[in-house]
Amino acid sequence: MAVQSVQDSTASVVPPGSADSIDLGPAIALSCRECGERSTLGPLFACAVCFGPLEVAYELPEGDPEGLRRRIEAGPPNIWRYAPLLPVPADVAEKPGLDPGFTRLVKADNLARELGVTGGLYVKDDSGNPTHSFKDRVVAIAVEAARAFGFTTLSCSSTGNLAGAVGAAAARAGFASCVFIPHDLEAGKVVMAAVYGGDLVGIEGTYDDVNRFCSELIGDPLGEGWGFVNVNLRPYYGEGSKTLAYEICEQLGWRLPDQLVVPVASGSQLTKIDKGLKELIALGLVEDRPYKIFGAQAEGCSPVSRAFKDGHDVVRPVKPDTIAKSLAIGNPADGPYVLDIARRTGGAVEDVTDEEIVDAIRLLARTEGIFAETAGGVTVGVARKLFAAGVLDPSLTTVVLNTGDGLKTLDAVAAGPSATIRPTLQAFRAAGFGTSR
Ligand SMILES: *Cc1c(COP(=O)(O)O)cnc(C)c1O
Ligand SMILES: [Zn+2]
Repeated sequence: MAVQSVQDSTASVVPPGSADSIDLGPAIALSCRECGERSTLGPLFACAVCFGPLEVAYELPEGDPEGLRRRIEAGPPNIWRYAPLLPVPADVAEKPGLDPGFTRLVKADNLARELGVTGGLYVKDDSGNPTHSFKDRVVAIAVEAARAFGFTTLSCSSTGNLAGAVGAAAARAGFASCVFIPHDLEAGKVVMAAVYGGDLVGIEGTYDDVNRFCSELIGDPLGEGWGFVNVNLRPYYGEGSKTLAYEICEQLGWRLPDQLVVPVASGSQLTKIDKGLKELIALGLVEDRPYKIFGAQAEGCSPVSRAFKDGHDVVRPVKPDTIAKSLAIGNPADGPYVLDIARRTGGAVEDVTDEEIVDAIRLLARTEGIFAETAGGVTVGVARKLFAAGVLDPSLTTVVLNTGDGLKTLDAVAAGPSATIRPTLQAFRAAGFGTSR
C-alpha cells in the first residue's frame, strides 16, 4: 500500500489554501478509481482526465502490526482511535466534533436461533451514534476536510439522516450549515435536520433531483465557500465508512467476519467497508482470509439488486417508491462498484418488500430489543431471506448492519398499546389480561 510518486494533476478546481499546508494525516493524494490518475488533496470529486470518481490514497503505517494495534486500542472510544488510517490530522480527537463511532456489536443469539444461524450472528448497531445513524461517521471525516480546505459552510444533499448529521456537526464544529432534502421526508428526520439551527431547504422532487440541484449549486457563486460533504468532499466523506469495518473486526477480537450484510443507497458505505477490510489485511491487523459482502436494498428502490440478478455491469436508474427513504437513491453513484465487490467476494445483492421490511423491524425489536429504522429492516429482512435461500451460510460468522434508529421512522411501524383501560383491576381483567393469558 506504499505509494511511490504523487503527480500533480491538471485538475481545474483549485482548493482554497495551498496544497502544501494541508494536513490530512496519512492521506497523501486523491486517486481516480477508474484510471489511477493522481490529484493533490483538495475539494475535488471527479478525475480531471476521465471524470471517474476520486478516492483518498494513503501512506499507511506499515511494518509493525502489533504496535499499530496497541496504538489503536489505547485510543479514544470513538472513530478517532483509527486516526492513523483516516484522512484526518493526528490531533483530530482534540478538535470540537461529535466523536461518533465505537457503537455496539451485539451478539444476536435470539435472532440467530429464530433464523437458524449457528455460526454466530452479530448486529452492528449504529443507531447509537450522536444523531442516531451511521452518517455521523462520514460527516466527521468530511468536517476535517472542510476545515483543511478553509470552507465555512457545510452543506449536503440528503435522504434525511445526512442532513441531521451535517446540521449537528456544523453546530458543534463552528460551521454555518445549509442542507437540502426531498420535501416529503419522515417528520422525525425533518425535525432532526432543522433543530440544530442551520438552514434546511426542502426540494420539490426526489433525492436524485436534490443531488442534481446541489451539483449545480457547487458551480455557482451562490455555493462559493461551501463544502458539500457528499459532493465536493465526497472522497473524504466516503472514508468514514471504513471505520465500520475496523470496529467490527476489532470488536470480534481482530478477526474478519465471514459474511456481512450492508445496506445500499448510493453504495458508498458498502464499497468503503470493503476498502477498510482490505486495509486491515494489508496491514497485518487481521488474518488474510476470504469474506463475503452482501448488499441490501428495498424492492421499491432496487437498481443495484436488479442489475446483480440480471447479470449486468450497468445500473439502470429507477424512480424510488419505498418506506426505506434513507436508502431511496434511484441513481446510485457507487452502484457498479457494489456489483464488483458482491461478485468478487462471492456475495450477492438482494431486496425485500416494504412489508418484509416492517416484519424485519419487528423481528429485530422482539428478539434483541433493538428498534431499527427502515434501513435496518432492509438489512435484517435481506439477511433472513438469504439465510432461508441458503445463499448466506448459517454456519459462518455473520454481521448485519443496523444503520439507523427506529425513532426516526415511527410511521413505518403501526405499533400501539395492547389495550387502553380505566385504572382498575376489573378493567384490566375484562380486557383479557390475567393468569390464563
Ligand atoms: C445513508 C444511509 C445508508 C447508506 O448509504 P450509502 O449511500 O449507500 O453509503 C444506510 N443506512 C442509512 C440509515 C443511511 O442513512
Ligand atoms: Zn481517471
